[in-house]
Amino acid sequence: MTRSAIVVGAGIGGLAAAISLHQHGWDVTILEQAPALAEVGAGIQISPNGTKILERLGLLSALEQVAFEAPAIELRMGTSGRRVFHMPMAAAARHRWGGPHLNVHRADLVDVLQSGFQGTMRLGQTVTAATPDGQVLLADGTALQADVIVAADGLHSRLRAQVAGPDTARFTGNIAWRCTVPADRVHNIPQATTIWAGPRRHAITNWIRGGALLNFVGIVETDDRGAEAWDRVGDPADALADFAGWVPQVRDTIRSADQILRWPIYDRQPTPLWIDGRVALLGDAAHPMVPSMAQGAVQAIEDAWVLANCLNGDIDAGLQRYQSLRQPRTARVQQTSLKNLRQFHRSGIFAQAATYGPMIAASLFAPKALYTRPDWIYAATPDTLMK
Ligand SMILES: Cc1cc2nc3c(=O)[nH]c(=O)nc-3n(C[C@H](O)[C@H](O)[C@H](O)COP(=O)(O)OP(=O)(O)OC[C@H]3O[C@@H](n4cnc5c(N)ncnc54)[C@H](O)[C@@H]3O)c2cc1C
Repeated sequence: MTRSAIVVGAGIGGLAAAISLHQHGWDVTILEQAPALAEVGAGIQISPNGTKILERLGLLSALEQVAFEAPAIELRMGTSGRRVFHMPMAAAARHRWGGPHLNVHRADLVDVLQSGFQGTMRLGQTVTAATPDGQVLLADGTALQADVIVAADGLHSRLRAQVAGPDTARFTGNIAWRCTVPADRVHNIPQATTIWAGPRRHAITNWIRGGALLNFVGIVETDDRGAEAWDRVGDPADALADFAGWVPQVRDTIRSADQILRWPIYDRQPTPLWIDGRVALLGDAAHPMVPSMAQGAVQAIEDAWVLANCLNGDIDAGLQRYQSLRQPRTARVQQTSLKNLRQFHRSGIFAQAATYGPMIAASLFAPKALYTRPDWIYAATPDTLMK
């Protein structure tokens, strides 16, 4: 008999889970509260551990059509432009980690995922609760039953509290500025994905849509969290003030954008509890993290792959295996992302020298050392993730 799954949330995690489960023969229904899958967010990076899974799901070539494969990743100082390290990617990434490292617009990734989903998608459906026996309750009072409920309902997940107990998302003391700018409006922006570092803030410039669009993210430490919504429009003057004295590549990009979004960055402590009966957490609902390793969506894609492969046999044993395979790895990514954020935000000449000096030395004298750092994340394959 065909087994059924309800996936709550049609973000990157929910869509990837729905596709993976459907490919394993499950009858999948996605329940999404939004009335339409609108274009939200901006560019994101999908590292080789994610692209190798998308390849297995049959979606990589479609994604490559709309992505940009940067020739390198660089770290530079935000005020002087001085290069700390240069790490060739593209062919080097494919060779070392077995898959491309791609930069994509989030909306393009959602389109590709949506085109790969064959099951039922019900928009405008808000889930209010799920029970351990596999029932979900909708805001209109309807109850639906399935063999498994996948709670992929994001950072402010309603279902998380039922599975993991009450814990509130914590404001990390950082906000993100985010915009995209057509290529013909900006000049002298490196083709490399570039991290611009400075005291208590950093920025990223990376190309998406085959190089037609520049993506900008600026993360700034502040006590002012403001409102939290994907579509909160910010004031460019505030963004320019946050990056006063920084290189033209950062300031001109902010000035050239039609609009800039601003929203607070939240995360949560890792939870050991991902499963409650037949309800499983996935993606940001399980492991929201600061974006400084560019792994939130990629880890959600890993979750999706592992979950579907764990559920080939007995469901309850499979869910336990899913939790035990995913929890330690994602907790480590959450913690390392926080450490990375602090590294990009070093203040003071001594702290900066202690952090960036070894990186400059490695870039000059032992460039291969730069690749070993992300090995534990990027080298994972669809097969090793199951071990
Ligand atoms: C500035 C920034 C940069 C980032 N850069 C990267 C990057 O480069 N690489 C990367 O991998 N990650 C990146 N991330 C993280 C990434 O965007 C998230 O981790 C990822 O989008 C999470 O996907 P998700 O599907 O788990 O959740 P979401 O995308 O939040 O999706 C949750 C879905 O559930 C729906 N929903 C919520 N509640 C309900 C309900 N009760 N009923 C029905 N539906 C519901 C929502 O409407 C939404 O569609 C970045 C994040 C930020 C903030």
